[in-house]
Amino acid sequence: MKYFITVLILLFTLTCVSQVDVQSKIKYHTEKAQNYLDKEKALSGYYSIDKDGIKMYASPTDKINHKIEFQIDWLDMYLFKMTCQKHSSESLMEKYKSGKFTSLIQDGIYIGYNRSEKKLQGLKIAIDPGHIANDFEMGDLEKKHIIIKGDSINGIKDSIEIAEGILTYATAILLKEKLEKEGATVFLTRTADKCAFGKTYQQWKKDDLKNAVDSLYKIGEIKAWQKDYFNSSKAKDRDIFRVIFRDLELAKRVELINNFNPDYTVVIHYNVDETNLDWIKTTDKNFNMCFVGGAFMKNDLITKEKRFEFLRLLITDDLEKSIAISSSVIKKFESELNVPTASARDAKYLIEGCLPTEANGVYCRNLQLPRYIHSPIVYGETLYQDNINECKLLSAETDKTKNKRIQQVADAYFKGILNYVSTNK
Ligand SMILES: [Zn+2]
Repeated sequence: MKYFITVLILLFTLTCVSQVDVQSKIKYHTEKAQNYLDKEKALSGYYSIDKDGIKMYASPTDKINHKIEFQIDWLDMYLFKMTCQKHSSESLMEKYKSGKFTSLIQDGIYIGYNRSEKKLQGLKIAIDPGHIANDFEMGDLEKKHIIIKGDSINGIKDSIEIAEGILTYATAILLKEKLEKEGATVFLTRTADKCAFGKTYQQWKKDDLKNAVDSLYKIGEIKAWQKDYFNSSKAKDRDIFRVIFRDLELAKRVELINNFNPDYTVVIHYNVDETNLDWIKTTDKNFNMCFVGGAFMKNDLITKEKRFEFLRLLITDDLEKSIAISSSVIKKFESELNVPTASARDAKYLIEGCLPTEANGVYCRNLQLPRYIHSPIVYGETLYQDNINECKLLSAETDKTKNKRIQQVADAYFKGILNYVSTNK
């Protein structure tokens, strides 16, 4: 009898503990979805978080009819996180399509680092230098080329020309060198003159445009008249770049990064003042910011792929880790570059397209790379290129790896990453 009572008490206690545990998981994930992932508070029809676990639905009508697209129980969450770390996007999508989570891992779930005295030994870091321009002509085509006119009042003698793609690539090269010195294995998504497809834009146009247009038409991404236009000689480069090339090339960057399976991903961009139209004159404004995944808009869960990424961001720690490492990096942007961190009121898109996080200057934004890359991510937007002082500093040196300001930016990324990794071993 005594034994029976003890067992009953034990069972009762275990049930209470696991109920408390489940309640806190429900609370945590519900708040995470509301605060980080659902920008317009319009997505609750696509998921539910309850005592069983998390369920995804293809549409709000399916939720009403209890037609579950994918279900994962609380007990399987840890294995799900590990599975997301270890498997390709394709096998994860196959798993998602099967409707219920079971672990794919057969070869052990613990991923340990063999750290030596080098601070980043054993870590794999992907770097994505934003945009593709290696000259002003290409910068013009991708609309990432600013020309500040000579201005005697502000002490600019001749016009200043900057192509963001040249700055990001030089920053990436400098950062790669520093990370490798500390033992990291680093992967870059592109070279100075070749995009993620391993060729120039012009070469891609020659080799791959037709196939790309046909397949986009087939999946309903472009209409018949667009297909005819892009297959004709009348198609303008700017249109081809904007409608066909840009997103496909970003998708290729995601594919390359996810195949590399990094521990962290760094995406490098330089910003401009969005209100300084055409960027022909300078601005006094200057800010740093970082983006992480999340802030899905009300029409952002219409495909299975996007619903999977929503679920991945909800369950894995990628978002929490992205916020933490970005926070470490943005503090270094501020201290090393002497440029302030943006608060939400400093740019319109930070209010309209983002959700703030608890970290100063780090915002959830549903951009293609933070949405699809399966690792914690630092998506940096440092300083304003059209700022009155920055444009002068950035215009120095033809070889931008020798430019002092760019060296400082690379150094700030490096110190921020190192600081985060050493305190989170
Ligand atoms: Zn950019």
